[in-house]
This record gives sequence, structure tokens and C-alpha cells, in this order.
Amino acid sequence: MTENPKSNDIIRKTEAARKAANMPDYQESYDSFSWTDAQSLLDRLPGGHLNIAHEAIDRHLATGHGDQIAMRWIAKSGDRTDFTYAELSQLTNRFANILRENGLTKGDRVYALLGRVPELYIAALGTLKAGCVFCPLFSAFGPEPIKARMEIGGANALVTSSRLYSRKVAGIRAALPALKTVFTVDGDVADTVALDPLMDAASDQFATEKTDPEDAALLHFTSGTTGKPKGVVHVHQAVVAHNATGRMALDLKPDDIYWCTADPGWVTGTSYGIIAPLTNRCTMIVDEAEFDADRWYDILESEAVNVWYTAPTAIRMLMKAGPKAIGTHQFPKLRFMASVGEPLNPEAVKWGQTTFGQPFHDNWWQTETGGIMIANYAAMDVKPGSMGKPLPGIVAGIAEIAGSEITQIDTPMTIGELVIRPGWPSMMRGYLNEQARYDKCFKGDWYLSGDLAMRDADGYFWFVGRADDLIKSAGHLIGPFEVESALMEHPAVTEVAVIGLPDETAGQIVKAYVALKPGHAPDEALRLELLGHARKRLGPAVAPKEIAFRQNLPKTRSGKIMRRLLRARELGLPEGDISTLESDEK
Ligand code: ATP
Ligand code: MG
Repeated sequence: MTENPKSNDIIRKTEAARKAANMPDYQESYDSFSWTDAQSLLDRLPGGHLNIAHEAIDRHLATGHGDQIAMRWIAKSGDRTDFTYAELSQLTNRFANILRENGLTKGDRVYALLGRVPELYIAALGTLKAGCVFCPLFSAFGPEPIKARMEIGGANALVTSSRLYSRKVAGIRAALPALKTVFTVDGDVADTVALDPLMDAASDQFATEKTDPEDAALLHFTSGTTGKPKGVVHVHQAVVAHNATGRMALDLKPDDIYWCTADPGWVTGTSYGIIAPLTNRCTMIVDEAEFDADRWYDILESEAVNVWYTAPTAIRMLMKAGPKAIGTHQFPKLRFMASVGEPLNPEAVKWGQTTFGQPFHDNWWQTETGGIMIANYAAMDVKPGSMGKPLPGIVAGIAEIAGSEITQIDTPMTIGELVIRPGWPSMMRGYLNEQARYDKCFKGDWYLSGDLAMRDADGYFWFVGRADDLIKSAGHLIGPFEVESALMEHPAVTEVAVIGLPDETAGQIVKAYVALKPGHAPDEALRLELLGHARKRLGPAVAPKEIAFRQNLPKTRSGKIMRRLLRARELGLPEGDISTLESDEK
């Protein structure tokens, strides 16, 4: 399996970088950390109450930061609109009053089906102020995925646009009896309520609901990479983790200009696209537009972004766009770059180093964990291809699971399931309406992630693959990530997905689907060259036996390659739930 990287592959941090980091000494912080201390850095409401929106916005007004820009919104047109903390406070108060006036009370579910427009962020935080549960949906979902998710969560209210309502919700409304009110942000269509006039009329004063730390706050659906998406419930207490992990894993400092490129329809876009930056009193950038290499480089430079949190798919697209897209852009203010959502190939980490003078810091977490669990830190040396070490406050292990037995594996670089000891604040409190699926996530004292990983002798964790994606070939256990990373090293390759196919003699054989960079032809010569390259790097037992070229790989809306779909298609099996499929193979 994966070797420890050669020591000259390790990206070392300078003494100056270490000293400047929020967490200058990982081990010391890990040893001394307590969640009680982390909680004491928040304001909290009198009587032991806790509300995410108060910690995100109003607490900063009390300390004299009302005039700081909380959110800079960049419209598709490129126009910028700023919202100070004081303005965001008033706007979210107005929205919370509107919910009350429309009969929505604590615990009711408020959904959003919106692009990245300011109203989405106002609705999210206003909903939390009112003590209602916020559930963001991707605006690109079709009517069926919307209906399924609104049914599961029992949506009581929806905030959307008239266009999205007419196209996607009007036709399913009759099937959603719990849905009392639909607010539209841009005028009124039949059976909806126009939000603008209500916002103008509403009071900008609101007493934030005194929620209990264990009251439900957020409902997020998983990406659907491995099967039918699950509705994950998080509580207000999660803010303790959002705040602390923002500081430790993303190195967020007050006044930072921070850009999280994720859409709030995916958990990253809420935990780290709203809550972590605001509770750390950053200025967050929100871009309405979809990915575009030129636009992204321009935003990084012109907004003087300090901390940037993005995903492997976007990084690979930037790599594909090549040096021409970077042009003369410079990023002197960019202090920290991080990535999440999928394994980040060593090539991409190193590309960060050569392009931006610093590596991408990979981190790992899930909708279920609500916040970052394992990360590469500003002050810690980076081993490209490793997802780093557990956050202070997080106990992670590699375990062998056999029936009801769970055994920790201590031998370095041995594959096992990545497991975490429950008890951190942002751990899910349940899968909505799926108790049995939730119960299956725990064994003994551990939460089972469903991912396979290894830990090296220095305590760094290495992602191997989803448990469902592990390939067993002629007695070898092969993680797709290892094979994909080797192929990614080839200059013609932009993206790879590897799956196992049934084989009579070997049990399974490895097949790779490869997308090429512009200027490379998908011909037989290149296929043979890639097979040869993989054999040299991985050895014949692990290297793919088959390579197929694709222009595109099937991906979820959160940018994850759907290997299960490639497998199902290859074997002629049912495709299963594809409600989150965004881009498909060609
Ligand atoms: P579903 O659970 O519905 O199949 P999903 O697991 O993709 O979808 P998310 O909660 O959005 O839904 O994603 C979490 C998963 O993403 C992790 O379990 C892991 O497989 C993958 N992942 C996240 N970050 C990383 C990372 N840094 N390296 C490798 N894999 C990662
Ligand atoms: Mg999952």
C-alpha cells in the first residue's frame, strides 16, 4: 500500500509561519484542549442558552464591531454589495419577525431553495434567531429531489425565487401538506408571499429565541455519493465546533477576508460558508456565480482573500486551466488554503505550493460530523496526500470491524475503518426518520465513518477510499485513491476514478476512467502509456488492467465522483438514487 512519502516530499513550515498560526504547536494544543474551554470563548445567552445566530452576528455588535463588513456579496454581474454586522443583524431580525408573523415557531422547519444570493444568508441566520430549523437545498435540484427532502424534513416554510417556485415547487406543492408558507425573494406568484415588502415593514428588533444547546438548528442532506441521501440533524451546540475548528483548522482570525467556495446546499457551505467565519468575526466573500478560473483568480486577488477554503474538483479545474488563467495575478495576502470533500491528490497539494507558494491543506469530515475532524494545520508540516491529524478534542482511530467486534489497529499504514469517539459538539443527533441507519453508525465506543484509512507512525491519517469502493484483487486490498493519485501524476491526466470489476480469477480487477487535459488525444498510444506509468508506479498487482477515457466523470452537486454509478453502468445494474447527480460522464 501507500508508502510514507519520501522526506523530500514533505512540505515544511517555516518558523515564522508556525509562530503566526492560531495553533503554533499542534501537540500541545491537542493535549491541553477541552470543549468546555472552547465553549467559554463564545458569548452564550443567559440561563445556559445558546443560539448559533447570536454567536455569529449580534455578539460582535456588543463588542463594537457593528461597522465591520460581515459579508461581501459578488453578483454574477460582478457588482459588489457589502453587509456590515450591524446590517446583517437588522436584516436577520426582520426575517425572524416575518417568520413569527406568519405563525412559524420554535422547531418549525424553514427550507431555502435559492442560489447564492444575500437572502439565502439572511434567511439562514434569521431562521436560527427564530429558533426554527434551517434546511438549505441546492437550487439546481429538480422537483423530485426537492419533494423528497421537504417530505423527510416536514418543511413548514420555504424561501425561494418566483422562477424556482414556478418551475420546481408549484407542481409538487399539493403533496406537501405541512408546507404552510412560501416566501419569494423577487415578487409574488400565486400561492406565495413576496418577501421584500414584508422585510420593509418588519421591525428590525428581535429577541433571539433562547434555544437550548440541544435544540435542533440545522438539517443537512448528505451528498448521496454512496446511496440515498440521509437527512442529518445538527443542534445549536454545534456552533462550539464550528467556531473552534474554524480557528484551529482554517486558521481564521478576526478581520480576515475569507472565501469558502461551497454552496450552502452542501454542509460545507453552511458550517464553513456561514457559521465558522461569522463566529470568528471574519469578512466572508460570497460569489453568486459558478466556477470560472479567470473569475476565481480575479476574486482571490482583488478581494485580497486571506483564507480560502475550496474542494478538489475546483482545484483540479484550476490545474486544468493552466498557467495562462493565472496570468499576472498575484496573491500576496493569501495566507492559508484548504480543501475538503474528496481525497486531494498529492499532485494538487504540490501544485498549490508551486502556484501559490503554499500547499493546499486537506481536511476530512462528513455531513454527519458537522465540522472538520482531521486536518492539516497552518503550523504543521504537510505530507502531500495525507489528510493530516485529528483536531484537538477529536479522538480518531483505525479499526477492524468483524461482526459485533471492533478492534483498534495500531500497526502503522494498515488499512481499517476510520472511526471517531463520539462526544464532540457538532456530531449529528440523528438521521431524520431513519433510526436503523443511524444505529448502524455506532459500534462499541465508536462512530463508524464508512471510510477506510491508514495512520502512519507520525500520526498522520491517509485516506484509502470509501468502504464500498475498496477493491480486492488477487489477495491485495486496493484503495481507489492510491491508484487515482498515481495516474494523476501523468501530465496528460486531469481527473480519474477507479473501480473494481468482478473477475473470475482475481476476484476483482482494477478499472480506471480517465479525463484528459486539453491538447491530449484519447488514443491507444496514450492508453498504453498510462497503463505503463501505473504499472511502474504501483506494481502490476495494483495497477489498473483497464483504462477508459471519458470527457467527464459523474459527480454530485458537491463535486464528488460517483464511483458507484460507474460501477452500476459497467455491470448493467440499477443506477440507484441519482438525485444529487450534477455532471455526468461523456
Ligand atoms: P453519502 O453519505 O450520501 O453517500 P457523502 O458521504 O459523499 O454522501 P458528505 O457528507 O458530503 O456526503 O461527504 C463526506 C464524505 O466525503 C466522507 O465520508 C469522505 O468519503 C469524503 N471526504 C470528505 N473529505 C475528504 C477528504 N479530505 N479526503 C477524502 N475523502 C473525503
Ligand atoms: Mg457519507
